[in-house]
Amino acid sequence: MKNYWYVARDNEIFIDIDSKQSRSIISALARIRGIIEAEKFPIRQVWLFPSRTENHYHIVITLKNAIPETYRIALQLYFFSDVFRTCNNIMRIEDCVPAAEVLISIFDWRKQYKFYRYADATCTCEGKHDYVVMEKCSAAKTLRGVNRAKRYFDFPVSPENFFQKKFGKIWNYWEN
Ligand SMILES: [Zn+2]
Repeated sequence: MKNYWYVARDNEIFIDIDSKQSRSIISALARIRGIIEAEKFPIRQVWLFPSRTENHYHIVITLKNAIPETYRIALQLYFFSDVFRTCNNIMRIEDCVPAAEVLISIFDWRKQYKFYRYADATCTCEGKHDYVVMEKCSAAKTLRGVNRAKRYFDFPVSPENFFQKKFGKIWNYWEN
């Protein structure tokens, strides 16, 4: 299998709709249309691509000129991009990890959908690019270097019984 890596440019907004709710792609497109019609941002083009999983999508918005990074992050969230991914993007940007924002596709956007540019790298990893795959991925090594598999967040703990409706200081781990 071949994977195509696209790294967001400063005039591109990458959106990853990984929700199983069928409405979310429609909701995202509706918000994008709203922004276009309000002429608040210099949107040039909107591209829609399938993801490897059914009902998952990749959207790329191209802008006439670069906008601040924080604006692009805010727009990702506003357009319902996956929150976990965007949180990781923010951490990588702050840590100056190269290629902080990427979309990895099994489709060659250029060849199959006439996207306006080529992928930035390709790899032949199998399955999803989780932390384990990221560690040995050739494209990740080239684009992101040593911090390619940096893990910023962990899984939430099991929610059983930790909420006790007590107000004020509820947890105290560090007195100082
Ligand atoms: Zn890979």
